[in-house]
This record gives sequence, structure tokens and C-alpha cells, in this order.
Amino acid sequence: MTSKKKTYKLLLINPVNKRRQGLKLDQDSIYPPMGLGIIAALTPPHWEVEILDENFTEFEYKDVDLVGFTSLTATVNRCYELSTEYRKNKIPTVIGGIHASMLPEEAAQFTDTVVVGEAEEIWPKLIDDFEKNRLQKFYKAKLPSIVNSPSPRIDLYHPDYSFGSVQTTRGCPMSCEFCSVHTFNGSKYRLRSVEKSVEDFINIDKERIYIVDDNFVGYSKAARNHALEFFKGVAASGVQKQWGGSASMNIAEDEELLEYAAKSGCKLIFLGIESEIIDQLKQAKKKVNLKIGVDKYEEVYRKIHKYEISVLGAFIFGLDNDTPETIYNRASYILDADIDIIQASVLTPLPGTALFKRFEQEGRLLHTNFPEDWERYNYAEVVFQPNKMTPGEFSSSVYENWERLYEIKNLKRKFLRTLKLTNNPTTAAWAFSSNLQLRNFVFEGKKKVLQLDETFPQLGSKLELKNL
Ligand code: SF4
Repeated sequence: MTSKKKTYKLLLINPVNKRRQGLKLDQDSIYPPMGLGIIAALTPPHWEVEILDENFTEFEYKDVDLVGFTSLTATVNRCYELSTEYRKNKIPTVIGGIHASMLPEEAAQFTDTVVVGEAEEIWPKLIDDFEKNRLQKFYKAKLPSIVNSPSPRIDLYHPDYSFGSVQTTRGCPMSCEFCSVHTFNGSKYRLRSVEKSVEDFINIDKERIYIVDDNFVGYSKAARNHALEFFKGVAASGVQKQWGGSASMNIAEDEELLEYAAKSGCKLIFLGIESEIIDQLKQAKKKVNLKIGVDKYEEVYRKIHKYEISVLGAFIFGLDNDTPETIYNRASYILDADIDIIQASVLTPLPGTALFKRFEQEGRLLHTNFPEDWERYNYAEVVFQPNKMTPGEFSSSVYENWERLYEIKNLKRKFLRTLKLTNNPTTAAWAFSSNLQLRNFVFEGKKKVLQLDETFPQLGSKLELKNL
């Protein structure tokens, strides 16, 4: 007689930052937590898995065998808080994700086990160790091949996410100073099987998909061909879905790629433009933009529009040498240029980036009571000493320019321009709704920051929050 295999319960938690709660207030929360979906898919069938997603569901203690967290810097304190609660009850906890991978020793103080790096090759061993009662403190992964990375358990995601998400690549060969992608996902660009990626795209029961790759086009011929095959596969499947994703500006040099991206339903391309000032791009080591050339930016936007795709321009406020004047000028550039969707974030030195190390060495980090202060590292708060302004001047300047950028009359103007440039009402509608979503993210997040933060109390009255 065969004995029945013991069953277990795994609870995976997607935490939120208390300073930016709720789906609409956290940009990272627009898409379902793919890392947890993959962990769930890697977990054997005699485990019952549940995802508790704080974007939608209030935390309620559940009795389980093992608890897992995914961590971003801005959400890591919530992980530590919930982990402490479970550990009090002798339930072991595991943390992974980018923050825990960058600072495993810190994470180890608050959790039983830390997964450093990507989970594909580690998770089955960790589960086996747990079942044999020999869970280790650290599991460190080499970067796995992702060719056959499993499809995430989309059945476990909260149904109210308006986007589905698909991943086709990982890693980035660039090393922009403010970015930790190359540290976490490696500088070797890794490709997932086109068939699996197309299958995921088709199977998601959402009309809108976001390709969550940091750069779906890459920089090599192999990466470019991989993207092309993916677009062709989606187009040939006949599914009628719209999608957006991040690429570098070199995508504009490849019209065949743009043509098939459009044929497969692409409506939005996110470009990390960062700045229109060459010296700042040099400082930030944004090599690809320097290679394209600031004077060619308009040409990039024009090529993308030609294929009825909108441009999300992502910019940074607070790069070295920024002043209130250069920030104002950057906002004017964003409003005047043929950029359809506006994102302008506060420069944030995340752990694991060269920027964090530099600011630490230069003594410019303003909030270093870690881990508590990680909540402030959320792209909306000023956490470092700018070199040509006071932190207060910087905050005022950011908030004033956000008001300009997201003024409804400017967003309506952008909508009409997108319609004219792309000649596609669906694209223009997608762009307009994205701008409203980002507007909400910025203003609601700002209110929250000001309510919680006593650092810049003067701003509360100055900005007349009630009018936002
Ligand atoms: S910002 Fe983009 S291009 Fe630069 S390192 Fe990060 S992922 Fe790569």
C-alpha cells in the first residue's frame, strides 16, 4: 500500500508600502506580481499555494506551513513587519526579490531564509529542504537559463488587475548609474522561449498586456530576432489584445521590428529618456541615449508614431547639476515634445546601484535609518542632498512641475496630439488613460508623502493639496 504524500500550505505575500498604499497609488502595482506567480508555478503539486495581494486584500493572518515575500526597496519594511508576526508563531518565512538580493544580511535579520537572485533553480531545492526540516539561511542562485522558465500561475493573481503581464527576456548589458537591473538580473541578456512567451500572451484573460522585460528589444541581433519572432507569433495567433512594454531608443532604428510590434497589438513603448541634457546622460551612464543623440530624440518619437504606437517618456528629476530652472526646462521639454505619456520621477538611489554607493561615499544620503527609511525610497520623496539645490527647493520644484505636467488641460492637449500623430484613436485613448493613471499615482502619492512626512511641512500649505 502506498502512503499518501504529506500536504503543505504556502502563503505568498505581495506587500505594499504604507506611504503609497493601494493599486492606484503604486506604479509597481499596476501589474500582477510575476515573481510570486513563477514561485507558485515552481512549487510542487502537494503544496497548496495562495497569493495574498495587499494591493487588493487587507492582510489577515492565515495558518500555513511556510510564508514567502517578494521585496522591492519601498515595500521591504512591510515584509519585515509581517515576517516578524509569522515568526512569533514559529511559522518560517522566506524572502526574495531585488531588495533582499541586494541586502541579504539585512533581510536575514527579519526572515528565516533569504533567496538571493532568481528563483528558478533554487526554489525546488528550498522546498525539498523545508520538507526535510533543513531549511538554510541563504540560497544563492547563479543566473539561470530562462528559456524554459515556467508560465506564472495566473490563476492565483487577483482578478481586478487590469493588465496581464508577460516576460520574454531578462537582464541588461547596460550599466546606468541609477539602475540595479544589471546587478540583479545580470548583464547577459537572456531570452525566454518564443513559443512559451506567445502561449502566455494568448492565455492571459485580459485585453491589455504589459511586457515586463526591462528592454524587450535588446542590443544584439539575437535579441532583435527574438523580439521579431515573438511579435510575429502573437500576430499570427490572431488574438486581438493590446500591449505595451519597455524598449531602448534604438528600437526606432529598426522599422521592421516596429511594423511587427504594431501588427501584434503594440500601443505603447516606454522609453527611458531620463534627460535632454547630454552631461547628465554622461553622468548617469545612459550610453544608448548618448549614442542615439539628444538631437535625434524627435526622430525616434516620429518613427514610433508612424506605426501608430504611443511613446511613454520616462524622465528623472534630480540628476546631478539639476536646479529648479533645469527641472522647469525639462518639464517644458516634455510638454512641447512629441511624447504622449509623461513619467517624471525623483532620482532614487536604490541599494545595489552605483548611484547609492556614490551618494553614500559623498555623504549625500539624507535618510539612513534603515530599514525604516527604505519606505522613503519610492521615486516620490527626496532622499539625497542635491548638489545645486536644497532638498526643500528640490521637492518644491518637483511638485510644482508635476502640477504643470499633469494639468488636465495639458493631458487633453497631449491626447489630441497623440491622435494626430498616430492617427489611431485606440492608441490615443490608451495614452490618455495611462496619463490619468500616472497623474493619480503622482498626486495621491504626493498627498500621502506630505501627510506622513514632517521633513517638508512647509509644502503642505504651499501646494494647496485640496485642489489636486
Ligand atoms: S536603465 Fe534600462 S538600459 Fe539602463 S541599466 Fe537599467 S535596464 Fe539597462
